[in-house]
Amino acid sequence: MQWKTRGAVGALVLTLAACSQTPTGRSQLTLFSDEEIDQMGEQSFAQYQQQLPTVGGQAADYVQCVAQAVTQAADTSETWQVKVFKDDSANAFALPGGNIGVNTGLLDVAENQNQLASVLGHEVAHVLANHANERVSTQAVTQTGLAVLQSAAGVEGQQLMGLLGMGAEYGIIKPFSRKQESEADALGLTLMAQAGFDPRASIELWQNMSANSQGQPPVWMSTHPSDGQRIDDLQARMDQALAAYRQAQANGRTPNCQRPD
Ligand SMILES: [Zn+2]
Repeated sequence: MQWKTRGAVGALVLTLAACSQTPTGRSQLTLFSDEEIDQMGEQSFAQYQQQLPTVGGQAADYVQCVAQAVTQAADTSETWQVKVFKDDSANAFALPGGNIGVNTGLLDVAENQNQLASVLGHEVAHVLANHANERVSTQAVTQTGLAVLQSAAGVEGQQLMGLLGMGAEYGIIKPFSRKQESEADALGLTLMAQAGFDPRASIELWQNMSANSQGQPPVWMSTHPSDGQRIDDLQARMDQALAAYRQAQANGRTPNCQRPD
């Protein structure tokens, strides 16, 4: 835990009440209930939908197919809804409350179902590890003090979208922390493998992202760990991920999602 508040006693009580653990065993500050965080996710998704048109057809079916396989492997009680947005930037997100958004621009960078699964695994992992709660909580404590706890509406609108990891399009750079990114990479890699997608595609994906970002990097990339570091970390976990992948395939998890031409 790394955070400070003004009142030591209050902080102690809060720490005891609000410290939880991520799936990798890291302590995190989570001051909001799941219901509150889900509501923030729903609210932000509604707002995003007002700002960008969605597309249907083959592109939507394809993303739905990959997302469904990944979220089934995640084994959450959540009912996931997937939307594809018409936008050239290579962006994607998953929100607490069960909404997933993928921009059409990402489909140019992710060349096949395995690469797309590596992005969606990463995004869903952010949700599974409660990163949004952690970010909003940290923001609440460091910026506005404990008063914000009186009201879950202490953060809203564009600021909330930024905190939930959707901010790339809106000029708000409030990235997930590097710790959260590395955690989402590790969890996401396992998740895609368990869903039956080839985890080696995660490395290809980041290589494509890197090549794609020559000149003007997509904003959300700059919020992530350096491509080289990320690839090294993925490589270090690859044996384990490949074992999970082979196991999944043996168990009949062999997704075959048709990418539109
Ligand atoms: Zn991320």
